[in-house]
Amino acid sequence: MLLKGGAMPAQMAYDMYIDGEWAASHAGRTMTSLNPYSGEAWASIQAADEEDVDRAVRAAQRALPAWRDLPLASRAQLLRRLAELMEESSDHLATIDTTDNGKPVSQTNGQVRNAVATLRYFASVNPVSDARIISDDQQSGLLNFTRVEPLGVVAMIVPWNSPLSLASWKLAPALIAGNTVVWKPSEHTSASTLEVARLVADAGFPPGVINVVTGEGATAGAFLTRHPLVAKISFTGGTVAGRDIASAAARNLTRVSLELGGKSAQIVFADANLDRALADAVGGMFTSTGQTCVAGSRLLLEQSIHDDFLARVIDRVRAMRLGDPLDPATEMGPVTTRAQFETVQRYVELGLQEGATLAYGGTPALRDGQPAGLFYEPTVLSDVTNTMQVARDEIFGPVLSVIRFADQDEAISIANDSRYGLAAGIWTRSLDRSLFCARKLEAGSIWINGYRRFSPSSPFGGYKDSGYGRENGIEALREYSQVKSIWLAPGD
Ligand code: NDP
Repeated sequence: MLLKGGAMPAQMAYDMYIDGEWAASHAGRTMTSLNPYSGEAWASIQAADEEDVDRAVRAAQRALPAWRDLPLASRAQLLRRLAELMEESSDHLATIDTTDNGKPVSQTNGQVRNAVATLRYFASVNPVSDARIISDDQQSGLLNFTRVEPLGVVAMIVPWNSPLSLASWKLAPALIAGNTVVWKPSEHTSASTLEVARLVADAGFPPGVINVVTGEGATAGAFLTRHPLVAKISFTGGTVAGRDIASAAARNLTRVSLELGGKSAQIVFADANLDRALADAVGGMFTSTGQTCVAGSRLLLEQSIHDDFLARVIDRVRAMRLGDPLDPATEMGPVTTRAQFETVQRYVELGLQEGATLAYGGTPALRDGQPAGLFYEPTVLSDVTNTMQVARDEIFGPVLSVIRFADQDEAISIANDSRYGLAAGIWTRSLDRSLFCARKLEAGSIWINGYRRFSPSSPFGGYKDSGYGRENGIEALREYSQVKSIWLAPGD
């Protein structure tokens, strides 16, 4: 594959944003962020320790009463103002994320747009609409009603693959419900979050309502999840870290929601519009170099169309444009981190040892005949069975496992035979079949004749090991609220 060179932003240095002020880590430790396309260090960020995290949490706790009691319309206005400022800076924010994680700029632009839309959506909802008057037995004369209240300080832990859109799914509902936040982006992609922190200041949020701490997950992130003043942890990332966080949360009885990984099935039936299925399924897998929680990494093909459809997948993947992620025409960028790149290599080797066939790719991509940094070819493994490790584990890279099935029952059984349950796609012209499969599939999002559809108003989250709790929609508000039941009796 031919790769082209490209420009990147100049060297940047960022402080953290705590209590409305820019702050270095108190120990003076910094970390560097690498550009996965060029391999160069391009930004330095602060490495927070326990004291820095504590400062941020206490600032959020101090800001809580005034923020919670601010009229809803004022909180909504600030969310709208932040959305407006992010929209004005969208090219800049997208360029920053592309430089940090290598995702093509066409995709990071889409993610900034999604973050803006999410802020606007939650600025227009009523977070206390669940409150109600409960009808009483007529005899008691008591009035019983509920109040919906915020939880307190929310810890937001966000991964490197989609830093701003995933953060907005937490930030917007948490804030509109009256919580304050401490936001910990991934050490690999903190820059765009700190750029947003500038906009938070410009928008006029009171100090302490939104705090950003940066540093390693295993230290800064872990301190944050163990802090006794944190009322809720909202985490997106891998299953291993998710389990650690859930057990840390259990010690303080902190509420937690986990949006974890997946091994989602894309099921193509012979009666589908195959042109459409092809475009959706290839995008469903290789968007963001396969580094998305909903990547449709198991492609289930009905026996009668298997060979032809697989050939078309290979043609489409071969034509994919790899290159400078800042070039708007680029379809696939590099893998984001060295560790992730090595994981991809290891799984492809494992798949071949297990008996899969290498239908396409399977090697680092070349530039002038030499391996090109963290670029890995989009890879298609065929003759995969669902018992193979490549069909069971989340690889989080550009590796598609193709599995054949005989009939609808077998397709459902293969799709559900997974410890994950984040999403599934079905392509068919049969309404009966699509509704039957949607009911039977064990996953939090089901896309029929499409893939990767999101809306701020539609709940998103996992079944099984893909996590618990929901982002977006009215369901997200409930993740950041608690209900008080009030009983009123006559005073004499
Ligand atoms: P992690 O799950 O380790 O990291 C996700 C986020 O959590 C990052 O902000 C990380 O910070 C932070 N973090 C890590 N450990 C802890 C901890 N103990 N306490 C608090 N915060 C923590 O993802 P990795 O980057 O290591 O990727 C590993 C695997 O996770 C991938 O191969 C993939 O399978 C999965 N993954 C899934 C994602 C999804 O969207 N569902 C996103 C990313 C990864 P930092 O980055 O600074 O360490």
